[in-house]
Amino acid sequence: MSPPAASAFRAVDVIRKKRDGGELARGEIESLIGGYTRGDIPDYQVSAWLMAVVLRGMTRAETAILTDAMLHSGEVLDLSFLSAKKVDKHSTGGVGDKTSLVLAPLVAAAGLAVPMISGRGLGHTGGTLDKLESIPGFNVNLQVSQFRSVLETCGCAMIGQTAEIAPADRKLYALRDVTGTVESPYLICASIMSKKLAEGIDALVLDVKTGSGAFMKSEEDAVFLAELMVETGERMGKQVVAIITDMDQPLGNMIGNALEVVEVVEVLRGGGPDDLRRLCLELAGWMLHLGGVSKTVAEGKQQSEKLISSGKALDTFRQMVELQGGDPRVIDDAKGLPQAGYTATISSPKDGYLSSVKCEQVGTACVILGGGRERKEDSVDPAVGIVLHKKVGDRVSVGEPLATVHYNAETKAMGAQQLLEESFQLSDAPPDKKRPLIHRVIRKRGQEN
Ligand code: URA
Repeated sequence: MSPPAASAFRAVDVIRKKRDGGELARGEIESLIGGYTRGDIPDYQVSAWLMAVVLRGMTRAETAILTDAMLHSGEVLDLSFLSAKKVDKHSTGGVGDKTSLVLAPLVAAAGLAVPMISGRGLGHTGGTLDKLESIPGFNVNLQVSQFRSVLETCGCAMIGQTAEIAPADRKLYALRDVTGTVESPYLICASIMSKKLAEGIDALVLDVKTGSGAFMKSEEDAVFLAELMVETGERMGKQVVAIITDMDQPLGNMIGNALEVVEVVEVLRGGGPDDLRRLCLELAGWMLHLGGVSKTVAEGKQQSEKLISSGKALDTFRQMVELQGGDPRVIDDAKGLPQAGYTATISSPKDGYLSSVKCEQVGTACVILGGGRERKEDSVDPAVGIVLHKKVGDRVSVGEPLATVHYNAETKAMGAQQLLEESFQLSDAPPDKKRPLIHRVIRKRGQEN
């Protein structure tokens, strides 16, 4: 069906139709996305439509049309001049999830090309672009020609959606962040897949989070989203695998933009927290396997370990930082990263075990500190954040630090501290069941292995 004539299209009709649970036609979705991208339809109408989608859902056909409309709101990159296979990874969003910054240089060091288009903080979750921008000078707004040149030189480049690439997602993503319209599998699928498919990649590894800090809290919902995205990628002729991973507590120990860069460098040096390191190796293993560099995922993991211990992955990170205008000295001296003016400690009120963490609340505490946005036009404070000293299952003594808050404004720190204190659940006995880091793997049409 062709789009209705411009004069026949009224955004309010499309909002009402979705509000009442109707199925939108291709022309209606294309006109809405096209009109919004061009600036013809205002934020308030699109916000209302987004909320209707969150509440009413979408059919598979609507989701496919929305993804296509968002993908074709800009150009699809042609990276055929690169001889290496092009592979990427994208996460559905979490707290302390900084794996992209490790994976891009690590996988590039293995000889693959990683053209990564990422997002900013969304809801209570952090964003790759905000983390990268905490490195003084780092430019995530490269022109397409610059993006190609960085990619050709060091094998990876990391940018945001631009006026040229996935502009519809750029606008919708910022609007969803502040209108409570993130948690829809259909919107998440269209957002992620439109920008990933615009990258001109051959293969994609999706890290679909589940648990209290994920947008999809239950494993069932995470699997639904994973299958939706794998199906969308396949339809477009890409090799896609989704790994359902745990987000019931923050990943690693550091949350906050500059703090997370410190932890990324630790992992690239062969250290860092166990969960973060293991997840990076798992995802890298899959990327190397899909990219044809390793026969199996296990082999891909081993190769990745070697690229870390030889220093090659860190060298590639250094090169990318420099090529994108960032100050590479922060890699050797973290004092060059933005530092918060003050710190405060949250101590354990009793002896016992850390039995669970309200992970979304920890992410929200970081947003309150200024590490994320309350409104679209807000800028983030790169220095603030939270350092966790205990993981779920750890023994704690009364008075022992559970977390350190890095802050710049007393009033913000008070709100964040209160939320954090309520986020840690303590028990007398150790929690009996430990959640796995990797829950399952979803490949073609719901087939798992
Ligand atoms: N990451 C994205 O890029 N988009 C979403 O909607 C959620 C996570």
